[in-house]
Amino acid sequence: MIEPLIIGNWKLNGNQLILQKFIKTLNKELKDIKNCQIAIAPPMLYLAQAKQLISNHKIKLCAQNVDIHLHGAFTGETSAQMLKDIGVEYVIIGHSERRIHHRENDQYISKKYAIAKLFNLMPIICIGETEKEHNQGKTEEICKYQIDAILDSQGIIAFENSIIAYEPIWAIGTNHSADPKQVQDIHEFIRYYLAKKSKVISEQVIIQYGGSVNEKNANLLLDQQDINGLLIGTHSLNEKKFMQIIKAAIAKNI
Ligand code: PEP
Repeated sequence: MIEPLIIGNWKLNGNQLILQKFIKTLNKELKDIKNCQIAIAPPMLYLAQAKQLISNHKIKLCAQNVDIHLHGAFTGETSAQMLKDIGVEYVIIGHSERRIHHRENDQYISKKYAIAKLFNLMPIICIGETEKEHNQGKTEEICKYQIDAILDSQGIIAFENSIIAYEPIWAIGTNHSADPKQVQDIHEFIRYYLAKKSKVISEQVIIQYGGSVNEKNANLLLDQQDINGLLIGTHSLNEKKFMQIIKAAIAKNI
């Protein structure tokens, strides 16, 4: 059984005080937890401070982005080596907000994925369709295409020790999560698609769901066999709500 992985993506939110309060609560509340992995992704600027504040080994650090280069004249960027250097373990790649606002395409995202793997950072590759594609019944086709960008350049081995986050774009930040049963169908398809290349890897890969997850719908989502974790935006900013979601994941996996 795959241990559920709950990740909080703060996006461009938070400050030092919020971070201190948040991690203090998590350190305390997650003291004796087993059977659940937790990571937080505050803005890049706060990662090093977060590392200092975390005293519970169950809480891992996740970056929201990484550059494809290791050093050089790339103003504003952060390398995989730098993330590794300060103790980051996970990195979100291909988030729809980066695909849309920063025009990151599948080839570019695939390069980020490769550099993360090279430095033993666990990539969380975000995939998912727009509302229009959803209404056209193209969800599987889009997911397949986004997975293929990595499969074609790096092979199935690239999905060993990695995470796929299925995040339908139309569900992100809308307060309307996708239907858990429909999510299960897509996750099952993703696993089946990877299994064509390697059954072993397909059974190990963590498939998270993201898109308006909250403390009320987390239970139903986590009930689905192929939902192995949650990537949470808005509701990861409130430590009480985030803790409720984590507790739901722990309860499922006892
Ligand atoms: C996200 O952006 O990854 C996300 C899931 O956001 P939200 O939870 O706010 O929908």
